[in-house]
Amino acid sequence: MEIRKVAVIGAGTMGRGIAQVFAQSGYETIMIDVVEEQLQDALASIKKFLGRSVEKGRLSQEELDGLLERLQPAGDLGAAADADFVVEAASENVEIKKKIFGQLDELCRPEVILSSNTSSIPITLLAAATQRPDQVIGMHFMNPVPLMVLVEIIRGLPTSDETMTITVDLAEKLGKTPVEVNDFPGFISNRILMPMINEAVFALMEGVATKEAIDQIMILGMNHPMGPLALADLIGLDVCLAILEVMHGGLGDPKYRPCPLLRKYVDAGWLGRKSGRGFYNYAQGEKPPQKPR
Ligand code: NAD
Repeated sequence: MEIRKVAVIGAGTMGRGIAQVFAQSGYETIMIDVVEEQLQDALASIKKFLGRSVEKGRLSQEELDGLLERLQPAGDLGAAADADFVVEAASENVEIKKKIFGQLDELCRPEVILSSNTSSIPITLLAAATQRPDQVIGMHFMNPVPLMVLVEIIRGLPTSDETMTITVDLAEKLGKTPVEVNDFPGFISNRILMPMINEAVFALMEGVATKEAIDQIMILGMNHPMGPLALADLIGLDVCLAILEVMHGGLGDPKYRPCPLLRKYVDAGWLGRKSGRGFYNYAQGEKPPQKPR
């Protein structure tokens, strides 16, 4: 089956980037979110991002118009019914995702692959919520999606070779580099990244150094493009907490215990860039340390 139409579920930080990349690569793209403001905000941010590409001469106005025509927002999951491939990028919550996968399974044609952009929830668990477990797979894009080339492709226990091949091929058609991993909590990217972020939050909580010092040490000393606390703000502190909780529960090892300070920030609604405040107060113009050019 030729993939021409793709449904992206969720228009948050990731869903909007994924939808943009599909539309940019020529796919009819339906971007679905239950929150209308999220859809409007997503469309505005996609237009802003691509408007800059037009200004810089990387994209023509005609290409931009064509792209926006291919990108359709929708407020109801039913809009995914005629999609040839689905990428779920809704909130990092097991119950929400299981429900979405059950609904998609009823809505979509039997041959359609259902993928998830989850950062940590077992693909095998999402597959079990459907009658097509061999056609469920992880397609884990990186943030910000239009700029990052990696897509971690996660093979659930029942994922078929055919599903793997089609998904790898699709990621390549988007200009991305797919890398295959097996289904364990946090996969590879977050199993290694999140303990580092969590340790940075512990160091901050224990007063080992200021947030700026922690970030600067990792930028200048380890050649990271940004510090771990600034990266946590970019990812979303609620998303980081949810990933750590899944890893803590799923792997059963206390080394993944989320730092209480991270939990406190999430309780306060300090979720990072998306809420205007996380470890840094973006609403008040605070800027994390940058890598020197
Ligand atoms: P987000 O909170 O920014 O956005 C989630 C969106 O899902 C919201 O707009 C919400 O309204 C929507 N949503 C919730 N329930 C829905 C439903 N039933 N149907 C349709 N939409 C629904 O979250 P995010 O950061 O974009 O993360 C989305 C997924 O991507 C998560 O699984 C997360 O783990 C994963 N992820 C996040 C990052 C990151 O850096 N933020 C990176 C890679 C993967």
